[in-house]
Amino acid sequence: MRTAVSRLELLQPRSLQHALRMLRDEGPLTPLAGATDLYVAVNFGTLDSTRFLNLWGLEPLRRITLCGDTLRIGALATYTSLIRSRLVRQRLPILARAALEVGGVQIQNRGTLGGNVANASPAGDTLPVLAVAEAVVVLRSVDRERRVPFAEFYTGYRQTVRRPDELIVGLEIPPVEGRQWFRKVGTRAAQAISKVVIAAVRGSSPRIALGSVAPTVIRLSQVEHALGAGAGMDEAVHRLDQDIQPIDDLRSTADYRRDVAGNLLQRFWAETGGLSS
Ligand SMILES: Cc1cc2nc3c(=O)[nH]c(=O)nc-3n(C[C@H](O)[C@H](O)[C@H](O)COP(=O)(O)OP(=O)(O)OC[C@H]3O[C@@H](n4cnc5c(N)ncnc54)[C@H](O)[C@@H]3O)c2cc1C
Repeated sequence: MRTAVSRLELLQPRSLQHALRMLRDEGPLTPLAGATDLYVAVNFGTLDSTRFLNLWGLEPLRRITLCGDTLRIGALATYTSLIRSRLVRQRLPILARAALEVGGVQIQNRGTLGGNVANASPAGDTLPVLAVAEAVVVLRSVDRERRVPFAEFYTGYRQTVRRPDELIVGLEIPPVEGRQWFRKVGTRAAQAISKVVIAAVRGSSPRIALGSVAPTVIRLSQVEHALGAGAGMDEAVHRLDQDIQPIDDLRSTADYRRDVAGNLLQRFWAETGGLSS
């Protein structure tokens, strides 16, 4: 049954520091950014929380900047702002590409990068991109900021290392060397959650990450190692089975996901061949 909205409380911080103090002193509170995931839970009546911290007005968390060689993207950057950002298109075009394939225009206007990362769905479309970019998740509490490598952020199905008194304030992305590639396979082009999503970079050593084929987004370490050592595609596809554990669920079957992952891997390699830097 739909959660009764009248039971819910929304706290309105005036600044990031105010938000962090509320999180520490008035918790437990659930951060609320664009609310595109949280409203789904309201509609399905699966929302455990009743008290929310509204981040939407925290303008400094929307910024996309270059700091030295590092691309910094604030947690509240929406998909629309990622698509429009010249910096993102120049430095990490597969992030803009992934953003273009999220939901429809309404979701792109409200949904945020920080929300996608914090929501921790294995089907989150930006997560394979952040995995191959070797992004760093910046977490802040009242008295401390810490940087967690993306590969260490997820600890299990919908589990992260974020503590209840911390917010994701942004993502830091170092320069990415090599040709970038992204594909999402879903039921249809818009408003469909991925059956399989892949991001990859063909540089001096290949980086490949898949979503929707394991409890968390994963890097294909066996496949990367094999391709980096000069193995052929047959061997790489064989290694795929050691990297992924797809499941049957309402969106797809494990066999289908395995076949699609193999096909995407082959397309990535064929379409980026001869152009690696
Ligand atoms: C119709 C529809 C289509 C969709 N299509 C796609 C799709 O194609 N691909 C895809 O990947 N997703 C899709 N989504 C899911 C959703 O839009 C994204 O995950 C979006 O990025 C979530 O961001 P948000 O700001 O709306 O998060 P919210 O709903 O506000 O929050 C999501 C979770 O993250 C937490 N959170 C948010 N921001 C922070 C922060 N800064 N620090 C700590 N915790 C935080 C919240 O507490 C909550 O647990 C779709 C959703 C809908 C409703």
